[in-house]
Amino acid sequence: MRASIGRSLDGDQANHAWGVMDVLARTDFPDIRLKCAIQSHSGGSILLIPREGGHLFRMYVDLGEVTPERKARIRETTVEEIEQKANEILHPYTLEVRHVAWHSVYEVGHRLTEKFDDVDDASRSPRVFIAGDACHTHSAKAGQGMNVSMQDGFNIGWKLGHVLTGRSPEQLLSTYSAERQVIAQNLIDFDREWSTMMAKKPEEFDDPSELEDFYVKTAEFPAGFMTQYEPR
Ligand SMILES: Cc1cc2nc3c(=O)[nH]c(=O)nc-3n(C[C@H](O)[C@H](O)[C@H](O)COP(=O)(O)OP(=O)(O)OC[C@H]3O[C@@H](n4cnc5c(N)ncnc54)[C@H](O)[C@@H]3O)c2cc1C
Repeated sequence: MRASIGRSLDGDQANHAWGVMDVLARTDFPDIRLKCAIQSHSGGSILLIPREGGHLFRMYVDLGEVTPERKARIRETTVEEIEQKANEILHPYTLEVRHVAWHSVYEVGHRLTEKFDDVDDASRSPRVFIAGDACHTHSAKAGQGMNVSMQDGFNIGWKLGHVLTGRSPEQLLSTYSAERQVIAQNLIDFDREWSTMMAKKPEEFDDPSELEDFYVKTAEFPAGFMTQYEPR
């Protein structure tokens, strides 16, 4: 669909791979019940999110950049390999996975399409609209893909409703791409900054609370409350 309206998803050349698993496990890592970002000294990181119910937890395990040589095999990464990588990152703590409720391997890069509809100029109203991952992708660290995609859908949804029922002029439809493209760019900028900070080693921070301060300062962005559209 995107290609047929002449749009492309531009950005990072290479993807970054993540092994994700919801597990029951034995571990001596003391903060296993807390949301945390774990950065190893030898490279690699884990985003840990305790799951509802107090038993399972989700780990996003950094599997590194997907080089052309790794591309063919990366999706076949087994859960045992993800567990091994998690143990390397957690060292000197250990993790023994006892049950895997769900797991997946996925690849993603920072990419954005230049316009979310089929019109380059204001010569006519757009007739085709794209939304969600078809328009913007980013790393697992911000975890905003679904949220921002649903907001795209809400934006175009109410506008189509108003135009089709005669309550708004057709020109309203061109504000969809204009508004949401900026938000998608903001998301990618935010995610780049956030993932760069999360990849830093503790000694590289000027202040030990730098990551926490950034998280608190920007908390409204991932919550969706910082979205503001320019008047048109
Ligand atoms: C492991 C993982 C964890 C994630 N965690 C989070 C999170 O915590 N928070 C968050 O906000 N986001 C998260 N995301 C991202 C989120 O899932 C996506 O951003 C979101 O699903 C995008 O929605 P979408 O409707 O644009 O695309 P999709 O959900 O991919 O839907 C596209 C649909 O189109 C169908 N399709 C494709 N091609 C065709 C075709 N030619 N004809 C007909 N149908 C077709 C597909 O089968 C699919 O059903 C996560 C993603 C992954 C992989």
